[in-house]
Amino acid sequence: MHSSPSGNQLERVADGARRRTSASAVMRTVLEDGPVARSSIARRTGLSPASVTGHCAQLARLGLLREAPEALRTNGVGRPHIPVDLDDSRFLAGGVHVAVPYTTVALLGLRGQVVAQRRLTHRDGATEPGRILARAAEGLGALRAAQDPRATLLGVGLATGGWVDRAQGTVVEHPMLGWRDVAASELLGGLTGLPVHVDAHSRALANGERLFGITRGDRSSLHLFIGNVVDAAFATGDGVHHGPRSQAGAIAHLPVERGTVACPCGRTGCLQAEVSEQTLCRRAYEAGIVPAPSDPLLVLAAAEAGDRRAVRLLLERARLVGRAAALLLDVLNPDTVVITELGVIHRQDCLAALREEVAARTSAVVDVERTVVPTSFPAAEILAVAGGSVVLDVLYRDPLGVLESVTDDSR
Ligand SMILES: [Zn+2]
Repeated sequence: MHSSPSGNQLERVADGARRRTSASAVMRTVLEDGPVARSSIARRTGLSPASVTGHCAQLARLGLLREAPEALRTNGVGRPHIPVDLDDSRFLAGGVHVAVPYTTVALLGLRGQVVAQRRLTHRDGATEPGRILARAAEGLGALRAAQDPRATLLGVGLATGGWVDRAQGTVVEHPMLGWRDVAASELLGGLTGLPVHVDAHSRALANGERLFGITRGDRSSLHLFIGNVVDAAFATGDGVHHGPRSQAGAIAHLPVERGTVACPCGRTGCLQAEVSEQTLCRRAYEAGIVPAPSDPLLVLAAAEAGDRRAVRLLLERARLVGRAAALLLDVLNPDTVVITELGVIHRQDCLAALREEVAARTSAVVDVERTVVPTSFPAAEILAVAGGSVVLDVLYRDPLGVLESVTDDSR
């Protein structure tokens, strides 16, 4: 029998939704400004002081917030303002990033800081999803066992390249891994007993930068991820754009002028084929720069050791990425363009070459030094941050919902 909900029921649902949104706004403000006085949170969020006090009390009961030790400091007269801050002693977020040659597992704190991580090489290049996810679950378990047993794991975020459907929790297609319609959230959830959220790595990093990194407070940002897989993400202050079935940001087959590499799609000169790590390694190997076409870090090491051919390869790659960045900059006109690419992260000359290319090609009026920047995360932590940011993004969007799901599961 179907019956319409009463006015009271509707009011309760609406009230619950308002409460969750407000809790999210309070958490975001404390993340950005903490330790911060409740009165400042009220000003920033537009919530009433009474409502902020209520939310802070609830979030403190749940273990997400605490009163800051600076509480005793007063500025002279009146009652001391006791600031609140994140309590990052009680919870951890799990992160998994699946790259073509290896998987990274990690634990992160609420501020996006990497607490522990481990790299699991894909033995013999085997990338069968069941095997990869089982090893990831095992790796996470080992990291977890080395932490304070009282800390609660909030869930696991899984990031990878290719087409990832966040709403369905699936990796729709990742040709380089050979994955197709992999129910990653369900599989890894079954293995870990935790809620698992999935997203594409460029979108995951866009969320990482938006929450913990260089684009905090920006109205809009564009993120380019250049690894073996090449993709983009566009974020506004409210979140990252996903598009229908999370297909936004697929720039692998963006045409590059004078490109020469054959792409699996049948054309020549697609961006991913031109700039992927595989292509960089192959070119370096063919030029006799590295002993095997296996690891892009070898190319970087050769450049750092003064091999001019290696430097040239990295500069060429940076310029190609610059062309793509200029094109996307014209379309989206974001406040900031964040680049995650090996050369640009490690070498000033690569960053300069990329900026020069952007400046020469964009028709937008921009200060490239300020607009085009490398990722703000340390190179050794980028993949860990990508994985963990998937679940931390969910936490900051709906802290009450995430905590409910964890307590339900532990019952
Ligand atoms: Zn192509």
